[in-house]
Amino acid sequence: MIPSSNPVTASDVYAADNRSKSNLALVRPDASPAEPKVCVRNLSLSYSSTKGDRLLALDGIDLKVRTGEFLCIVGPSGCGKSTLLHIITGLHHPTSGSVSVDDKIVDGPSTSRILIFQELGLFPWLTVADNVEFGLKMAGVSSSERRDKAAHYLRMVHLSQFRESYIHQLSGGMRQRVALARALATEPDVLLMDEPFAALDAQTRDILHDELERIWADTGRTIIFVTHNVREAARLGDRVIVMTFRPGRIKREFLVDLPRPRQIEDSLVAGMARDILEELRAEINKSLEQEYRHQP
Ligand code: ADP
Ligand code: MG
Repeated sequence: MIPSSNPVTASDVYAADNRSKSNLALVRPDASPAEPKVCVRNLSLSYSSTKGDRLLALDGIDLKVRTGEFLCIVGPSGCGKSTLLHIITGLHHPTSGSVSVDDKIVDGPSTSRILIFQELGLFPWLTVADNVEFGLKMAGVSSSERRDKAAHYLRMVHLSQFRESYIHQLSGGMRQRVALARALATEPDVLLMDEPFAALDAQTRDILHDELERIWADTGRTIIFVTHNVREAARLGDRVIVMTFRPGRIKREFLVDLPRPRQIEDSLVAGMARDILEELRAEINKSLEQEYRHQP
């Protein structure tokens, strides 16, 4: 099969297509979509470890994300998924390479790129509506416009009747929807989501998948969604990228050419998830080997 460190070649793609099952279509990592919204070029990042040496977390990532695309990224724990999202958000600087959005190099955070993560960062002392308005207030938006936008996005996530509630009064799924409304309210071009539904039960997650797919279709946002759940990736993504274990590289890309709206239990979604998992499994095994090597 394909060595994990090497990019997928045209012949690999051809071979994979010929043994294709379940509508599987593979595209090459360097396939250039028209009009990239986000362009990651030869990006690497190394961290300094506590022992003083360097840990190469990301190595030579090349990635183009189309305007309005729903891109999912899967990879074993520790492969650099969060690091990549932080760099695209502008919270970290790469060691080498670059990220541009609409052809402008990213050199810091911006309200046009919003990151949602599992811990959410909602303010417990503010009501739901005030949480949603928070980013707009920081951006100097007038109070009447803030109110209108908060009402609009709370309607979109079906939380209008909870606008005066506090965060502790909400379920996990509702909190996720507040975080989504808050992110959408600033009307970002690119929404980055870092395992946002990982802590939710399966039924709540299914409902949020439906809502996110609908909101994505209605708003035309570009979404980059990190998950370790291959079913979730096949359910949501237009394309799924599989990353290698450390250092994180792009191992393979899957084009998920399945009709929408999808359901997680659709047999074609399950088939695609199986194919993705096959690619991912070798990387998960490497991460486990590494982990156990350090056990006494
Ligand atoms: P993932 O999100 O895929 O689990 P991360 O991006 O969080 O991976 O981390 C990638 C690698 O970089 C891991 O080995 C992690 O331990 C290391 N790492 C992450 N953040 C830091 C940091 N601030 N300093 C040093 N090492 C880090
Ligand atoms: Mg992470």
